[in-house]
Amino acid sequence: MKADLFDQRRLLDLQAVDTLLTQLKQRRRRLDEDTTPADARRRVQALNDRAASLTADIADLDRDIGRIEREVELVTKRADADRDRMASGTAGAKELEGLQSELESLARRQRSLEDDELELMERREALEAELEAARAQTIEAQHALDEAEAARNRALAAIEAETADAESDRIALTISIPDRLVELYERIHARQPIAAAELVGRRCESCRIEKSPADMAPLRAAAIDEVLRCEECGCVLIRTELPSHGPRRDTSEDELKKYT
Ligand SMILES: [Zn+2]
Repeated sequence: MKADLFDQRRLLDLQAVDTLLTQLKQRRRRLDEDTTPADARRRVQALNDRAASLTADIADLDRDIGRIEREVELVTKRADADRDRMASGTAGAKELEGLQSELESLARRQRSLEDDELELMERREALEAELEAARAQTIEAQHALDEAEAARNRALAAIEAETADAESDRIALTISIPDRLVELYERIHARQPIAAAELVGRRCESCRIEKSPADMAPLRAAAIDEVLRCEECGCVLIRTELPSHGPRRDTSEDELKKYT
């Protein structure tokens, strides 16, 4: 196949765009695989659950404390009534003895209730401290989640913008390069990521294999508008060390000697 070397070189631009598109796809894949936002979301959820469970435990304790306080109130009222009765001077000796014994039993009951209440208050205090810590951790975790999501959105927006640019560059290039050359490129590109590469000295920049002088001879002898292929990797070899609008076949060999 023959094509103007200037057009052949545009395949390198097309290749650069395709390489960029491949890198953008990889970046997108890595972004999708990044578990940072999901991990942060799970942590926030776990901390919220923990806070909700602590809040429920505290509400249960408040109910128990309230019940004890109402019972203490009843005991106190009963003891006050007993003391009023004793002070009235109208109770007989036997009744006074009964009242005294009841007062002692009420006092014991009150102490026991107050001990229970104290224990519940201490547990409540410990749960409050845990709840406060969980809330502080939730704020931090939410902050980390917001940052992770913002970073992901920024990265995604950048990838999408760069992809859109690269895709329109690709369309512009395929329009400006002769169809036959684009078709050849696309055929190779369907098989392998690098479809066009520079020939630098004796080396193909795609497979990086240095060609032997024997393999180089036909490449050197080829007309400047001849489309060359790498024997090793199959890509289109672009001679960038030659002037793009160089001489045609009849004088090309002298030119080639100058540049290779
Ligand atoms: Zn090669």
